[in-house]
Amino acid sequence: MDSITHLADLGYLVAAALFILGIKGLGSPRTAVRGNQLGAAGMFLAVLITVVQMQAEAGDAGVQWGLVGLGLAAGGAVGLLMAKRVEMTGMPELVALLNGFGGAASSLVGLAELVRLAPEMAAADGGDPVPGYALWRAVFLVGVGASSLIGWTTLTGSVVAMLKLSGKWNDKLALPGGNAVKALLLAGAVVSAAMLLGDPASTTWLIALTATSCLLGVAFVAPIGGADMPVVISFLNSLSGVAASATGFVVGNNALIISGSLVGAAGLILTGIMCKAMNRPFKDVMFKAYGAAAGSGGTGEKRTARGYEADEAAMTFDGARLAIVVPGYGMAVSQAQHVVREIADELEANGTEVRYAIHPVAGRMPGHMNVLLAEANVPYDKLYELDDINSAFSECDVALVVGANDTVNPAAHTDPSGPLGGMPILDVEKARTTIIVKRSLSPGYAGVDNDLFYRSSTMMLFGDGKKKLTELLAALKEL
Ligand code: NDP
Repeated sequence: MDSITHLADLGYLVAAALFILGIKGLGSPRTAVRGNQLGAAGMFLAVLITVVQMQAEAGDAGVQWGLVGLGLAAGGAVGLLMAKRVEMTGMPELVALLNGFGGAASSLVGLAELVRLAPEMAAADGGDPVPGYALWRAVFLVGVGASSLIGWTTLTGSVVAMLKLSGKWNDKLALPGGNAVKALLLAGAVVSAAMLLGDPASTTWLIALTATSCLLGVAFVAPIGGADMPVVISFLNSLSGVAASATGFVVGNNALIISGSLVGAAGLILTGIMCKAMNRPFKDVMFKAYGAAAGSGGTGEKRTARGYEADEAAMTFDGARLAIVVPGYGMAVSQAQHVVREIADELEANGTEVRYAIHPVAGRMPGHMNVLLAEANVPYDKLYELDDINSAFSECDVALVVGANDTVNPAAHTDPSGPLGGMPILDVEKARTTIIVKRSLSPGYAGVDNDLFYRSSTMMLFGDGKKKLTELLAALKEL
């Protein structure tokens, strides 16, 4: 190994340490910004080392700096535009899409290397190979096969997930087959990858591998019901890391192997956490297709729920000792987090203790509520996880539910075979009074009717979250 390679490996080690410290930082809202900066610094270092090493190794041929610059400018411009234009509510879709792009990029790099090196390999296969060639060939081709299979599956699976998250996917779209089709497609992709190992120059097997992998992604994600999307997105995130790691072996880049493995492992851990949050084994999420045709849970009969005014709702806080705020996706949509904090300040000034109950899958991405409440300067020590807050609802005077629905839906207990069946929920029904702020009686993401809206202890405050809470704040100030 020459000194350039040694130096590059040392630099990659520093980058890897920055990635690990970055991920550690992301574990708490207090250190998340710093963690993000450390991760970005690690990535910048890795890119810098890669191009400098390429330049040093390419000698007179040099690196095509024009192309590198063009890639950086185009990628940077798209990234900047997305970051500026995408609303907070669009972040989950963006994250899903970025997972998919990661998978596609890994596949394309792997396939480009295959196309570039296939003629040389054909010559080496026919002649007298240098020592170590057989091992390199095996690692290279297994890497190409894995990055293609996993990368393309991640791309199409992520696009379906993104369409589902944005409500553009038609759940009634009947795709043929169920688990048998998935098994066939997986077998087809593995066989195509194996055939490509034997004949690296074959475009037929290359196309077969790409096509079966793309179809596999759609077949896996399409039947998965709304409530289980957090598991799917975490898993796709993990897959995009595994694809990147496989590509690292193809191009012989240690930074890519390390960063891909980190993403793969972190995504897998998150998948486990999300499965626990949904109280479902991973295999059931992937193969049972809970609630794919959602819209159940209700009795079918037409019921009416009474709407209340903000000043009526404000009265329930009079003399309250404990109020628990339950934020959900609707808080993100209406950007009501700041007024939520102002209401808490007002209540606390009147002697009411205020806590926030955070369901692990509230909103549309892991940690969604924590991010929004941190933005509104809600102190971290007032945020309680599901297991730590559920017992407090029975002692709570008012539960203020802001745009949450599935995460408080008692159907999780009463309809075990429904889309929400078995999912742990926040027990707001145990509070003396439950105020629910949302625009209508429509169901949440999983498409399940919510019996809570019709209970006698529930007050529905119909309207946009921010607007209604602003009215509630004004009414509280007049008490
Ligand atoms: P839900 O999606 O169950 O419900 C959100 C509610 O917000 C809707 O019923 C809607 O009712 C209301 N809403 C929408 N806009 C507004 C507004 N402007 N003002 C007030 N209310 C509004 O939210 P939850 O957070 O309770 O549950 C999250 C769901 O998303 C779970 O099913 C989870 O599995 C799923 N999910 C979570 C992901 C994650 O990683 N956290 C990822 C993907 C899916 P209305 O229209 O009547 O106003």
